[in-house]
Amino acid sequence: MASLSATGTNLAWEPAVHERLTDRHGRRITDLRISITDRCNYRCVYCRAGSDGAVYADLPIEDYLRMARVFVALGIEKIRLTGGEPLLRRGLPELLRELSRLRTLDGAPLDLALTTNGHLLEGMAEELRNAGLSRITVSMDAVDPEKFARITRVPGSYGRVLAGIRAAKRAGLAPVKVNCVLLRGFNEDQIVRFAEFSRDEGVIVRFIEFMPLEEDRLWSPEAVVSLREITEALGTYRPVKALPPNAASETAVRYTFDDGVGEIGIIAPVTQAFCGHCSRVRLTSDGKIRTCLFSQTDHDLYGVMQRGGSDAEMAEFIRRTVDHKEARHHIGEPGFLKPSRSMVHIGG
Ligand code: SF4
Repeated sequence: MASLSATGTNLAWEPAVHERLTDRHGRRITDLRISITDRCNYRCVYCRAGSDGAVYADLPIEDYLRMARVFVALGIEKIRLTGGEPLLRRGLPELLRELSRLRTLDGAPLDLALTTNGHLLEGMAEELRNAGLSRITVSMDAVDPEKFARITRVPGSYGRVLAGIRAAKRAGLAPVKVNCVLLRGFNEDQIVRFAEFSRDEGVIVRFIEFMPLEEDRLWSPEAVVSLREITEALGTYRPVKALPPNAASETAVRYTFDDGVGEIGIIAPVTQAFCGHCSRVRLTSDGKIRTCLFSQTDHDLYGVMQRGGSDAEMAEFIRRTVDHKEARHHIGEPGFLKPSRSMVHIGG
């Protein structure tokens, strides 16, 4: 990997401060999600059809790093690594190490996060922490081992993930968040169990409304368990109290319980969309920019790079692409089109 310059971006040019990434709706774009593989060792029913189904080849780790550097020089402050399953990627610790050496335009370290299914986490938590990862999110859709295995279609997966969550806490990753996608008829009976889990394990549990991003085309409005239903279910366990957002662009509505123990977040893109303050763009595992989860088009940044594009040319491509970021999604509206890629090929 190339050596880094003083600003950590190691680029042939430095943009003017005032050119920070902003879309035509006036939203500052500060969060980048990078999928580093679309391979996965789980086949969750609401995500994958059945087979391993990897479609896009992984890029060399240093190519993600170069693209990330250009984004950071344009004002990105948070990078989340996703997949498929990012822990399957060899070179992940090295990538984290290099990313942790980058500095934002204000000279601060990047906020580095990662989303994983947790299956390999127990053996890697310490190394990821030492490589510069600060916080982690584990996808977990049931606290019942049998139900969990039915959702992931991988026997014995629950124990591995629970051990991974505990190892992440021991390693000092904080916060440790647990994301649960709720599907009516599958796991809405787990809401109270997860409330207890949040309190017992000392992790932040976040419920996510089911979005039309799956391969199998399972989605319907009826399958969505709404924010209102989730808070009602939580209230049958203990009175809930609202918590203030951590940041304007936070996607979760935060709650705790009457005694202040445990934290629950609800991400409600279907019934309480938050597009108005969206600060995110995504880079797919094959190097395409997706300006919105529900985009109909990909923008081939990696192609620019492969054709010998300079850092400045890549930056210009990013700027033009972000300028056209969609104002919002249109889920449930007449004419709504499902996105051109399913979630596993976008990367969370
Ligand atoms: S749907 Fe698109 S615009 Fe809305 S919050 Fe998600 S990524 Fe942002």
